[in-house]
Amino acid sequence: MKKIFVAAAVLCAAALCAHGGNVSVYNLGGFKFYALNNNTGAIPENLIASKIPFKKMRGWNENALNYFLLDTGKIKILFDAGTSAANGGKVVERLKEAGFTPTDINIVCLTHMHGDHIGGMLDAEDKKVFPHARVMIALEEARYFEESGNAQAAAVLKEYEENITKVPQIAEITPGVTSVPLFGHTPGHTGYMIDAGGKKLLVWGDLVHFLGQFKNPDLYLSYDTNPAAATEMRKTILRRAAAEGFYVAGMHVVKPGAGSVAESGAQGLSFTFIPGIK
Ligand SMILES: [Zn+2]
Repeated sequence: MKKIFVAAAVLCAAALCAHGGNVSVYNLGGFKFYALNNNTGAIPENLIASKIPFKKMRGWNENALNYFLLDTGKIKILFDAGTSAANGGKVVERLKEAGFTPTDINIVCLTHMHGDHIGGMLDAEDKKVFPHARVMIALEEARYFEESGNAQAAAVLKEYEENITKVPQIAEITPGVTSVPLFGHTPGHTGYMIDAGGKKLLVWGDLVHFLGQFKNPDLYLSYDTNPAAATEMRKTILRRAAAEGFYVAGMHVVKPGAGSVAESGAQGLSFTFIPGIK
């Protein structure tokens, strides 16, 4: 999911974001959860690599670029940082709209190392945007990108070398936040489960890339490193979210990007996204 958001960001600048409403704030137990919308967009159909025919309901291709902030009262955790400013990334502006500055961020939890998630970690001089943050990256993800030759990932790994903690699977990041391996989209793609005194929310990274994947979870993209694993993981988590009732937040889920999942078909094969957190 690297290239499409350049076009989406241009669209956004022209029309879609002029009406405000880029920040949604929710109470999650005793925590505050901020959904920050960088821009809205639509997935180009040629990125869908699965060859399964599907019904194109209205809005099937809608998506977004989001990142999220959790304020526990003690610390502030940012989940992903969006694209670089040069590619339309607005993480610093969105934090400001929510009342924060980059120096307020204590932890950045990265779901994976694609450019539309780590671009906002560095400024135009490739310097740290979040100088005080401990940066969490799954062990498997860091290892994969250290060997990948990806220049942007290398720049982030180098600049944040002192800040980075390589996280093992299912590790407590801070009380109430645990890493959850969601491997498939990338080899170390990782979610973060927030448990705020009974209310739970899974930040699921790129488990879903456009609205139509709730209805048709078998659809996958050319960006999925392991399409079969990514698809299986999507179905498993959608079933769990619907059955267990935890909230979800996705980096490409339509605005506000956070909400809940309900079954919309038989046998756990089709789902609906219900926006918002109660
Ligand atoms: Zn992405």
